[in-house]
Amino acid sequence: MQDLHSFGWYAAKLKPHLPKKAFQPVPTRLWGGLAYLVITVVALLTIGLLDVFPLFYVPISIVIGASFAALGFLGHEILHGTVVRKPWLRDFLGAVAFWPLSTGPKLWRKWHNLTHHVHTQHEEHDPDSWPTLERIMKSRFLCWVYKLPLPVRAFFSFCSLSFQFTVHSVNMFVIYLKEFNPKKRPAVIFEAIVPWMTWIGLLVWVGPVKWIFMFLLPLLIANLIVMAYISTNHRLNPTTEVNDPLANSLTVTVPKWVDVLHFNFSYHTEHHLFPGMSSKYYPQVKQLIKEHWPERYHEMRFDKALIALWKTPRPYQDRVLVDPSSGEVFGALGEGLDTTNIKKVAKKVRESDLVSSLSNSKNQK
Ligand SMILES: [Zn+2]
Ligand SMILES: [Zn+2]
Repeated sequence: MQDLHSFGWYAAKLKPHLPKKAFQPVPTRLWGGLAYLVITVVALLTIGLLDVFPLFYVPISIVIGASFAALGFLGHEILHGTVVRKPWLRDFLGAVAFWPLSTGPKLWRKWHNLTHHVHTQHEEHDPDSWPTLERIMKSRFLCWVYKLPLPVRAFFSFCSLSFQFTVHSVNMFVIYLKEFNPKKRPAVIFEAIVPWMTWIGLLVWVGPVKWIFMFLLPLLIANLIVMAYISTNHRLNPTTEVNDPLANSLTVTVPKWVDVLHFNFSYHTEHHLFPGMSSKYYPQVKQLIKEHWPERYHEMRFDKALIALWKTPRPYQDRVLVDPSSGEVFGALGEGLDTTNIKKVAKKVRESDLVSSLSNSKNQK
């Protein structure tokens, strides 16, 4: 692995090359949010007021789900303070944008801004990084899961993208609630419960059939869209001791119109260099990164990144990817992974190493 540098090191080198306005909030991003909000409300009313055979609701559900996801991308941006600066307004607009995904702004800022961004791909401290083999081996259930053949695991792992964000968000709430100042906890609980209450209220109001098409199916679609991106953000990269975005993050490329619809969420390496900058300017940051460190930068077409995810095993061991069922080791990006021809690298984890990880974890219990 090359020398690693912190995100601040890269940001300091690029900052002089960027215009001053790139570091100002961009409130015009809210027009996009308003458009998604109007589409969502109109689509919800259409299902609510229209009585047709339920399958005809499916296309409307897809529109609602896509809008839920896009609002989540905007909420991410808002809560980084890149749209408006006033804290109360930032949190209010962030809460509205994250309403469909039922994630409160205070929890999100702690989990994402203060933890994921600060400790990206750190084995222990990043709540979003895939666990290491050692941690997997501590759970009997996960040991069993990871003994299944890789294609079976890949299939279920991709299916789980349709609910992973929601499950992870609830998990983060449970984990981080106790870390908040006791005076702030009621507000964190309030922000978590109110969105769910509205969705449960909707169920009581419209009944289960319409609710499935107004909320449940759109929620699964939104999870799938946001998790398709999130799963490619870091999971093909190695874990790193130093939070180096060029080593531990991946930017995916999508058609321009998709970037417009998703508020440039594809530019993830750029986002980790400048999380406080509006994503409107990330194409400029990308250009600069490619001029300064072309050999360190990772970018991949979105569909190819998803295929690479399917073909590579998880979890991590010694920064790279290992298949616990076969003991085969695959590289990570910058660590021997050839994305044009994904195959195991020459070395293989010795059975004894896997066994020793397992017995160590049992001894710790
Ligand atoms: Zn990230
Ligand atoms: Zn972020």
